[in-house]
This record gives sequence, structure tokens and C-alpha cells, in this order.
Amino acid sequence: MPVSPDMAEDLATAVASLYEQAELAVIERVSTALAQGLDSPLWAELKLIQIGHLRTAIEAIITALQSTASGAIHQAVAEAYQRGAQAAVVELGALAPTVAAVPAGTHAVDRLAAALVQETGPVHQRMLRQSMDVYRTVVAEAVSAPQLGATTRRQAAERALTRFADRGVTGFVDQAGRAWNMTSYVEMATRSALGRAAVDAHTERLGAAGIDLVVVSDAPEECPRCKPWEGKVLRREGPAGADTVEVEHATEDDEMVSVRVAGSLPEARAAGLMHPNCRHSVSVYLPGVTKPRPKPESRASYEQTQKQRYLERQVRAWKRRAAAATDDEAKKKANARVRAYQGRIRELVAETDLPRKSHREQIGAAR
Ligand SMILES: [Zn+2]
Repeated sequence: MPVSPDMAEDLATAVASLYEQAELAVIERVSTALAQGLDSPLWAELKLIQIGHLRTAIEAIITALQSTASGAIHQAVAEAYQRGAQAAVVELGALAPTVAAVPAGTHAVDRLAAALVQETGPVHQRMLRQSMDVYRTVVAEAVSAPQLGATTRRQAAERALTRFADRGVTGFVDQAGRAWNMTSYVEMATRSALGRAAVDAHTERLGAAGIDLVVVSDAPEECPRCKPWEGKVLRREGPAGADTVEVEHATEDDEMVSVRVAGSLPEARAAGLMHPNCRHSVSVYLPGVTKPRPKPESRASYEQTQKQRYLERQVRAWKRRAAAATDDEAKKKANARVRAYQGRIRELVAETDLPRKSHREQIGAAR
């Protein structure tokens, strides 16, 4: 069975939804704290006094997140590794049943999980800092203009909260320089680590079975970065660069076959193949035996999958708006937008047959 980063995609859900829930809880905490007593003339003084309460409440949310997240991350990485290894076992089963029984590397799992925990570390500090900043800015504005009435205070608070909700906790930049919101960042980092774990486990098993060549699938939903590698044969490890090699036929003794090799798997992965959400897969290439597989039927175009991602981001953004709402009317309106975007996702899915990634828009247990 070929290995693909998307075989571990669902596992990233559990981790990302923990962060999404914490993000919504923090936004809700800040907006509730600001909205309380908003009509009182003593509001600004009260808010300055209560700043410590808010800080404690947010720290409690973060502490709970830290402990559940590191457990969830470890579990997800272990499961992704297991799935990748299992995929190799299935593929190798007929060829080398004894090699297939080698136990999975707990060392590799620990290493990948530790790296991911570290990568998500800065999230916690930023959650605290940015939410306290929003609170302080609104209070400071009121303190500096004491003559302003309750209505103006409310408007200032709503403006700041809406801005916070639109972006969520921000400031995460990936290696490509793109900026991410906290939940999307964690989801992206988790997916990429889990995809890596599955692919690593798979290739490790192939190595143990003495398999040197692999072949990249032809994916139905093509990503531009992977196109150059589609259907190509790659060295499992070793130097980069294309080459034609003379290798032994996989089943015929004393027969040599020449195989066009497009490069190495590490080279292709470094260039983007098997990126998060990649629909390509890699499987064993047996010289003289493996035939090109037919391109699977497309479920949707790349543009349609991108559109679905966009709608999913809108669902999340409006959930944050609902969490930031200071009155019932605004909350109701935001929730209506959530439902409207969910409806559009359902339409798109019905149209294109794409699997609905409901985990990406749901808040999970908090619902
Ligand atoms: Zn791809």
C-alpha cells in the first residue's frame, strides 16, 4: 500500500481542534471581561483592577492546553508512524514477509513528537500576550479620554475585539514567509510532521527490505509543486539528480532492466513533494514488474479544493467573531454567518464529491 501524507491528515484534527478551542476560549474571556460593567462610570478603574483576574484565567486556559496538547501530539505522531509502517508492511507482505515484521521505531516517534511540541511552543506565549494587549489597549483608550461616554467605550471595545477575532492570535510565519493564524499554524505544522512520520516509517521499512527504488503516483487533485515528480521513479535515498540505471529484474534471474530515475526521494521531498495536504503517494518500484498506474479519477480540481479551504477559513473566522461578540445580537449574526459558510461548503462538496473536512471547521468537544 502506497504511503501519502494525507493518510495521517485526520490525526492533525485532534491536535488543531485543541488549539482552536483554546483560542475561542481566550477570545471569549477577553470580550466578557471588557463587556462587564461597560455602562458604569467606573468602568475603566474596574478594568484596571481586574487585569490580574483576566491574566490568571488566560494562563489557566494555556496551562490546560499545554498538557493536553503534548499528549495529543505524541499520540498522533505515533499513530501516523504506525500507519506509514503498516502501509509498507502491506506492500512488502508478498515480497519479504520476515522483514515486514520489524518493530516500529519509537526513537523516531519521540524525536518527531518532541520537534513538533517545540514548534508549537511559541503559540502559548503569544496567546497570553496578544489577548492581554487587546484588553489593555481598550482600557487605556478609555482612561486617556475619561469624558467619553459608555456608547463610545462600547464602540471602541467592539472595534478592538472584532479586529482580534478577525485574525485570532497571529504572528506565526512559516519557512516560506507566509503569516498564519495560531490554529492554522498548529494545524499546518502538525500535518506536516505527521505526513513526515508516515512517509519516514514507510521508507524505513522499504530500506530494511532492501528496496532501493520507489515510484510517485499520479494524483487526482494535482498540486503544482508536485507535478514535476508525478509518475517518476526515485531512489529511496542517496544523491540527488536524474540518471538512467541498470538494475536487476525484480523477478527474473540474470535479467537486467534499465530504469530512468528522476532523482532521490529526499530531493523530491525537499522540493515540496509530500507537502501537507499532498494527494500524491509513494510506493515500491519493482524493476521490470511495476507498471505505471492509471491516473485515478479526479474528484475536484485544485481550484475547488482551494475554494473549500477558503470557506473553511471563513467558518473559523466567524466562529471567532461569535466568541468576541459583546451582545447577543452580534453573536447571533456571527453564528448565522458560520452556518451560511457551512452551507456553502456542503454545496461545494455535493457538487464536487470532495470529502467534507468537517474537523477543520468544527470546535469539536466544545459544541
Ligand atoms: Zn502534492
